Amino acid sequence: MKKSFTIAGGGIGGLVTALCLHKNGHEVRVYESVNELKPLGVGINLLPHAVRILDYLGLVPELEKIGIKTSNLVYANRLGQIFLSDPRGTFAGYKWPQFSIHRGLLQQMLYRQCVATLGSDKIILGHHLESFSQTEDAITAVFTQNNDTKKRVKVDSDVLIGADGIHSVSRAQCYPEEGKVIFSGNILYRGTSLMPPFLNGSTMTMIGSNQQKMVIYPIGLPHPTTGLQHINWVANLKAEAHENGGIQDWNKEVEKTFLLEKYKAWRYDWLDVYEMINRAASLYEFPMSDRNPLQKWSFGRFSLLGDAAHPMYPIGSNGASQAILDAASLTEAFRRETTVEQALQVYEENRLPATSKIVIQNRKKGPDAILDLMENRFPTGFSTEEIPHSEIDATMSNYKKTAGFDIQTLNQKTASLEE
Ligand SMILES: Cc1cc2nc3c(=O)[nH]c(=O)nc-3n(C[C@H](O)[C@H](O)[C@H](O)COP(=O)(O)OP(=O)(O)OC[C@H]3O[C@@H](n4cnc5c(N)ncnc54)[C@H](O)[C@@H]3O)c2cc1C
Repeated sequence: MKKSFTIAGGGIGGLVTALCLHKNGHEVRVYESVNELKPLGVGINLLPHAVRILDYLGLVPELEKIGIKTSNLVYANRLGQIFLSDPRGTFAGYKWPQFSIHRGLLQQMLYRQCVATLGSDKIILGHHLESFSQTEDAITAVFTQNNDTKKRVKVDSDVLIGADGIHSVSRAQCYPEEGKVIFSGNILYRGTSLMPPFLNGSTMTMIGSNQQKMVIYPIGLPHPTTGLQHINWVANLKAEAHENGGIQDWNKEVEKTFLLEKYKAWRYDWLDVYEMINRAASLYEFPMSDRNPLQKWSFGRFSLLGDAAHPMYPIGSNGASQAILDAASLTEAFRRETTVEQALQVYEENRLPATSKIVIQNRKKGPDAILDLMENRFPTGFSTEEIPHSEIDATMSNYKKTAGFDIQTLNQKTASLEE
């Protein structure tokens, strides 16, 4: 069934959806709010099941140019004592790697691919979705041009996909009572610093507890002459005076003085966290928020995708990965079903329950629950023989199953869209 698609939102989810649909013969246009796609954001991780879809699109060589293959996920307490090193991606025997990558570079790479394959006239920047309406035969999206004219543009197609992010206009039209995002009570402070590589130079690490945490990973290879590497980091702190539940801006810059104070004791022989914060060129504040899972994403010829459908805490490296899985599932549903409505229902049935579980798991700290386990049980540190390996392994493997990337299931698949 070949159809015409309008995608509102040119983020990771919208662009991967466009590439998957185009590869399957559909006519696709993406309308993105901003006038220029700047490399915004800092690091994200792509898990092996999402890399499988990008492999299907032939993009692994591009990922290798801009990202780093994550070899291990290391967990440590706030004293810097390491209690778990979990191999990742191909280093763990997966068919596909896990990539640590700059979000903005990934988005720009996907944009270039879309322009090269769909054509530059199919990726329309500076158009902000305002509303949509539908009949039995078509769906009409109304965009406002992001310039002085504020001209309104009506676009008809067979299908409209709302991939317009956590503050989705299309979701708000379907759920006008929903209101603002739900604030977790935690603030994330995000930065990148040029540092000498730590551990083996391709390790991601989680340190501390959910009271005060630090997530750190390299997002580029060491510079050939200086040897320094771009290290991405996210400090997770309980909100104090400056709670900011309603607003979620990925690019709000803040001062780092207070953060240095908070992390002044975090100086280990394998990584100097204080120095890393000190070296950051800039620091961004991001109130960690999500939304409640929905009962329904698909309404006739319309459906939601990515953060618009299932915004979740950025725990367990799932935000971008789940948006990519949505793109695959949506495209596969249109390959199998005979009507638009059926395809969107099947897509919803496949993806809504799966992503809702992750939203809920992430509220319970996801795999990072093992940080609290260690902090609560050994507040002053532990000896090697005290590490509760079986409890830790059980938490890790349960999360991998929930997030859909346990190794046995994934390795049976090929680089295709099949679920
Ligand atoms: C600027 C920015 C920086 C980010 N930085 C990080 C980061 O550092 N780390 C991290 O883990 N995650 C980050 N994220 C979120 C991450 O990209 C997503 O969680 C994930 O990739 C899912 O992608 P998505 O396409 O569903 O949503 P998003 O990546 O949020 O993309 C949504 C897109 O829709 C566009 N849009 C919004 N409203 C409209 C509208 N009404 N009409 C048309 N277009 C619209 C937005 O401009 C955006 O390009 C960032 C998101 C943004 C927008």
